[in-house]
Amino acid sequence: MKKYVYNFNEGKKEMKHLLGGKGANLAEMTNLGLSVPPGFTITTEACIDFYDQNEEISEEMMNEIKEHVGKVEEQLGKKFADKDQPLLFSVRSGAVVSMPGMMDTILNLGLNDETVQGLARSTNNERFAYDSYRRFIQMFSDVAMGISKSRFDLILDSKKEEKGYKEDPELTAEDLKEIIKGYKEIYLEEKREEFPQDPMKQLYLAVKAVFSSWNNARAFTYRNLNGIPHNLGTAVNVQSMVFGNMGNDSGTGVAFSRNPADGENRIFGEFLMNAQGEDVVAGIRTPKSIDELKQVMPAIYEEFISSAKKLENHYRDMQDIEFTIQNEKLYFLQTRNGKRTAKAAINVAVDLVEEGLISKEEAVLRIESAQLDNILHPNFDEKALKSAEKIAKGLPASPGAASGKVYFTAEAVVEAQGRGEACILVRQETSPEDIEGMNSAEGILTARGGMTSHAAVVARGMGKCCVAGCQEIRVDEAAKVLKYGNKTLKEGDVISLNGSTGEVYLGDIKKVNAELTGNFKKLMGYIDEIKRLGVRTNADTPKDAKTAVDFGAEGIGLCRTEHMFFNEDRIPKVRRMILAKSVEMREKALAELLPHQREDFAGIYEAMGERPVTVRLLDPPLHEFLPTTKADIETLAGSMGVSFEELKDVVDSLHEVNPMLGHRGCRLAVTYPEIYRMQARAIMEAAIEVSSKHEYDLVPEIMVPLIGSEKELKFVKDHIVDEIEQVFEEQSTKLTYKVGTMIEIPRAAITADEIANEAEFFSFGTNDLTQMGFGFSRDDAGKFLGEYENNEILEVSPFEAIDQKGIGKLMKMAVELGKSTRPDIHLGICGEHGGEPSSVEFCHKIGLDYVSCSPYRVPIAKLAAAQAVIKEKMEG
Ligand code: ADP
Ligand code: MG
Ligand code: MG
Repeated sequence: MKKYVYNFNEGKKEMKHLLGGKGANLAEMTNLGLSVPPGFTITTEACIDFYDQNEEISEEMMNEIKEHVGKVEEQLGKKFADKDQPLLFSVRSGAVVSMPGMMDTILNLGLNDETVQGLARSTNNERFAYDSYRRFIQMFSDVAMGISKSRFDLILDSKKEEKGYKEDPELTAEDLKEIIKGYKEIYLEEKREEFPQDPMKQLYLAVKAVFSSWNNARAFTYRNLNGIPHNLGTAVNVQSMVFGNMGNDSGTGVAFSRNPADGENRIFGEFLMNAQGEDVVAGIRTPKSIDELKQVMPAIYEEFISSAKKLENHYRDMQDIEFTIQNEKLYFLQTRNGKRTAKAAINVAVDLVEEGLISKEEAVLRIESAQLDNILHPNFDEKALKSAEKIAKGLPASPGAASGKVYFTAEAVVEAQGRGEACILVRQETSPEDIEGMNSAEGILTARGGMTSHAAVVARGMGKCCVAGCQEIRVDEAAKVLKYGNKTLKEGDVISLNGSTGEVYLGDIKKVNAELTGNFKKLMGYIDEIKRLGVRTNADTPKDAKTAVDFGAEGIGLCRTEHMFFNEDRIPKVRRMILAKSVEMREKALAELLPHQREDFAGIYEAMGERPVTVRLLDPPLHEFLPTTKADIETLAGSMGVSFEELKDVVDSLHEVNPMLGHRGCRLAVTYPEIYRMQARAIMEAAIEVSSKHEYDLVPEIMVPLIGSEKELKFVKDHIVDEIEQVFEEQSTKLTYKVGTMIEIPRAAITADEIANEAEFFSFGTNDLTQMGFGFSRDDAGKFLGEYENNEILEVSPFEAIDQKGIGKLMKMAVELGKSTRPDIHLGICGEHGGEPSSVEFCHKIGLDYVSCSPYRVPIAKLAAAQAVIKEKMEG
């Protein structure tokens, strides 16, 4: 026979699955010797069987419940349904994970027209007894029987009005008796039967109502949204009542064993004297700080503090505790691990390690990447936020807090930032042309687009605050206005964005900066001790490189060289190089670019010190460099000494239908090897120059993009090596260096054994690998991937988290093939995925040496890398 019911002294915290969270902890506290009002838990299995038996409580189950009522009667020396000294119960739901929709607690169950009199006599408090009865009828009717609470409130309020009372406590026993009469009439009218007088029937109906709440619409939706299985069931806790409303020597409260806002190791909570149940949180009366209990009841205060410590030491985590004081005796009604802010999570975890309560591994496991993300960015000052005016809400696309003047074009933002203004770029939606404006802005707000829109993806990469898809605003870029409700903001007006919540506010709001010292630093120290994967960053400038090092980056996994070509005084030289009609002309243009590139690389090498730096040679499609306007072509033609028509012809001839699959990456070097030769020379000259100034020798890593075959890489590499040999000869010195490749074309993954003959390292470019593996254009997929997620064809966008089954399989294959040719081949990833926790775990599992991600994601990637090691240990 199945055991459906457990007395609190039969359970323990490890039985959560069977007893639910609340029940398991009530049992644990009981066995720890804390004073918990006796009671029992009906298991989640009973709930599942209830559903298997046509939503009926079987006789067998009911008998077991009655048996346990009997046990509690023995424990307390009181009887359920007793006319003189009735035992009363609370009935509380409690699933394995707490979720909305579950039935609210019913207090004072067991009262009826007779037992209420016994309660009045035995407590010598008629008012208390009838108040408890009227609360019970209301809670039972509303919570278990679904009768609207407002009907009961109406009666209560009209009685108060009739008597001229302001507060509930002014109601007398006689008033309450009349209210109860009215309540019972409502029950009869709604249910067409008398309010149940038999306590056992009350209990039966209440238990049934808890079971039924498991499948109500709210709970069902919540489980769907959070991936919680529907067949877990909820437990029911039936617990003898204690009363915090028995007079001024009674009370009730909730407290955290540490401060849940900042983690300070000091009890934090509130209580109310002469109050029951939810009075503390309901906001009817203003509760007092737990510190004041010291004055009111010093002995109880001491007992509470030491018990809270005991619970915390036992659970080895900050606890959230509910208690009640009845006639100067303390009772514990609930404990659980307390919810906390990101800041508190880090402070508590590190403090617990230092107090010797948990291991570093446990501390690291307890931190969620979202929490880390949250504290890495500036946040609004909480006080300042309270008085701010919220004007709209969009999607929390990229975390952080930002304020600035609104501008509606990227150019306007760049200009305003040049004048020293803080700006918010406001667009209908962003596109690749807006990149510079996005980079110059404090934050980005778009009216359209989802979590994977251009704005969202780019902003996250930049670590820049972004609210996307904010449908409550209308943006008119031409008129330069932003409208919300019936109000209008124009260029230069100030707004603030919270990229972690999606909220948009009017005006400037004070901010507090990320704290990368103290406990954060200690936590990162634990993480570094545990993780195996290296964590590098994607950085193109000395400034980004420095930020990343501050965040803990161990090197650069991807230094893109294209931005170095885009700036104002270089782009004409780049254009002359591309449009050159002869190799001599091209080499002349390249010679002008060389010193710039050398300077760029030297700057990055200086910023990174001895840390490894992988430089990727030129990658983007040619068309991105070409002049488009008539004026630009004219000026350029002039400087090149050719006619407008002649140059226009060349420009037109370079037009491509599908540039992303066109003349880009290493294909540029196949047609114009001089370009990569110049870059290889710049890298090596910079490395030699910087090495000569320091005690160390740099080992440059040169990465070729878009390789699809071994011969292609060999062709390009031969040029690179030849140029570098020339540099060595010229300078009569040598440095060790590596030439490797991106693996971003499916064919490269499949022939990785051949490619490894030439490549000394692989770096997975998972953005392009995903784009080409799925055949989804990254720039357009945002328009339809939402529907793939809605229809559950894809769980998440493969541009956000690595598609482990498909694209991941290509990676795994490339790792194995690469190692078969070159066992010591160095392996990394440099796509956006390198900072996404589930992808980082995957990279750990397939044996990469490092991941590389944007500077702001470095700590998150490190956390995921450490958690991967711990999980692996736990599983193995
Ligand atoms: P929740 O999950 O919403 O906290 P609970 O069942 O813990 O639900 O509690 C609802 C309220 O009823 C809490 O204030 C709790 O302290 C109170 N309560 C629950 N059981 C008892 C009891 N046996 N005696 C007195 N108060 C109780
Ligand atoms: Mg509640
Ligand atoms: Mg509770």
